[in-house]
Amino acid sequence: MTKQTHAFQAEVKQILHLVTHSLYSNKEIFLRELVSNASDACDKLRFEALDNNALFEDQPNLEVRVLFDAEAKTITIRDNGIGMSAEEAASHLGTIAKSGTREFMAKLEGDQKKDANLIGQFGVGFYSGFIVADRITVETRRAGAPSDQGVRWSSEGTGEYELEAITRATRGTDVILHLRDEEAEFLNTWKLKSIIGKYSDHISLPILMQKEEWDAEASKQVKKDEWETVNKAAALWARSKSDITDAEYQEFYKQISYDSEAPLAYTHNRVEGRSEYTQLLYVPAKAPMDMWNRDKRGGVKLYVKRVFIMDDAEALMPVYLRFVKGVIDSADLPLNVSRELLQESRDVKAIREGSTKRVLGMLESLADSDDAQERARYLKFWGEFGAVLKEGIGEDFANRERLAKLFRFASTHADEGVSFADYVSRMKEGQEAIYVITADSLAAAKASPQLEIFKKKGIEVLLLVDRVDEWMLSHLYEFEGKELQSVAKGGVDLDKLLDDDEKKQAEAVAESFKPTLDKLKAALADRAKDVRVTTRLVDSPACLVTDEGDMSGHLARMLKQAGQTAPKTQPILEVNAEHALVKRMAGDDSRFDDLAHILFDQALLAEGGQLEDPAAYVARVTKLLSA
Ligand code: ADP
Repeated sequence: MTKQTHAFQAEVKQILHLVTHSLYSNKEIFLRELVSNASDACDKLRFEALDNNALFEDQPNLEVRVLFDAEAKTITIRDNGIGMSAEEAASHLGTIAKSGTREFMAKLEGDQKKDANLIGQFGVGFYSGFIVADRITVETRRAGAPSDQGVRWSSEGTGEYELEAITRATRGTDVILHLRDEEAEFLNTWKLKSIIGKYSDHISLPILMQKEEWDAEASKQVKKDEWETVNKAAALWARSKSDITDAEYQEFYKQISYDSEAPLAYTHNRVEGRSEYTQLLYVPAKAPMDMWNRDKRGGVKLYVKRVFIMDDAEALMPVYLRFVKGVIDSADLPLNVSRELLQESRDVKAIREGSTKRVLGMLESLADSDDAQERARYLKFWGEFGAVLKEGIGEDFANRERLAKLFRFASTHADEGVSFADYVSRMKEGQEAIYVITADSLAAAKASPQLEIFKKKGIEVLLLVDRVDEWMLSHLYEFEGKELQSVAKGGVDLDKLLDDDEKKQAEAVAESFKPTLDKLKAALADRAKDVRVTTRLVDSPACLVTDEGDMSGHLARMLKQAGQTAPKTQPILEVNAEHALVKRMAGDDSRFDDLAHILFDQALLAEGGQLEDPAAYVARVTKLLSA
């Protein structure tokens, strides 16, 4: 075969133009693509050799070599894989077989211009060489073919390519990039090694580069006749669990997380079934600074068959597990799948579900451990990440029960570590609901007047003081059939907490208080949705509660702080008819109006609210004090 010139398929021309012009911002990916092709070629040889061992010829060790020539300005990616025949070179490197080319081009022209991950998606990785090269020469021979059936493919990446027959003793492929003048930075051992380390460390084949030594006379680095493996050549996660030490797991965590502290826990599994993948996932011990940013991408790296695809593949983890770090290596996904495609992929959905279960399982085994130290570790985790995990209640319907079991709170019994299960086990005879109160701080929660009757009766109340708790309550209504009830809501059924004598007494008090109550209602008609007598108070004269279905005062204040407008709802004033102050009001007609407003204002202050008219409040109190 003499030298022949062929025109590229029309699509290839377009692709070439786009690739070289659009992906320029991330040029180093050419090496990843070509090393990955080389590694694939070796995989194909290994596969074909299963039936025909002779294909290995005299080179049974599969490998990739990366070499460069600073004078000639070339980089060569050499493999001893399957190689290509002349027909294969023409069809694989001159046409695009895959469908979806048009779609690919539309994307490159569109918003994701810069997303270099798109390039491999439609099987055009080879052309990325033209980002840095103005000519690519491929010399190749198919495994098993005689040495005179080698082929040289060459192109400047514009309209056409040349093919010619060559003699090539070794099987496999050399891809020789003739670099553009301005790409000389890649003609450097350190640079190439670092790119290989970044993208191809975990390719399971060895990637070799020539050793260098300093030649003092010439005063430059010269290459030695020795080769060294520059990638790790064995992915930790692809090894068998039993061969990996705890120290190796810890070291790997440090490498991928840049966290100096050891992880809290990790899980490593190979999953087979509809979707095949390996997961190695870590829970860090400490929350990073930007934990609260829900837009922060996750910490899971995606590999496909040991080839690094992308960092922070957020589609692999639900948002509420964004603190998880690690690696997922899929056997099913196409190499270099884009982020966008990840969001839509069913394989990815299966991976996300499987990984979520694993992480929850890992947390459960700490939380429910028989070992007190493990449980203490879980509490430490909860302190760091609990508020993030709570987001899961609204986000992950399928796992809400498992999540709720993992939650820990402060309560009127203990300042931390109270689970719903603990609470339920301490519920009083006849108690049906799980009582909760939300507040800005533990101190404020503990001081809430709404708690008084519960304290008196020894009934536990969960104290919810995280900012996400209000939101959580809007998604979590019950635990194992027990309704969650806010003690700051008007609807909470207090009658059940009283014995018969107390009930009778309460009824009598309410009856005799009725005329005063009507006056109070009239005095506060503009401020309170309703005024009523309550049994929930012991030491305080009054408190505010929210009508069932209305937004709590605490949530409304949080929204306001966040710059949002909360719907304007009026609270209900509940008064303790047996309190000295309230009793006195009944017979104090001249000051009744002032006292009524002070009662309301103080109830508002007590729950951490802000007075609408502080000056009026101060004037009233001053008037009273000076009378
Ligand atoms: P993809 O690898 O996604 O199929 P590429 O554009 O990178 O797309 O490569 C096109 C085809 O060229 C490959 O599918 C393969 O058949 C062939 N090829 C590329 N590099 C090599 C190589 N080093 N050895 C053998 N075949 C190769």
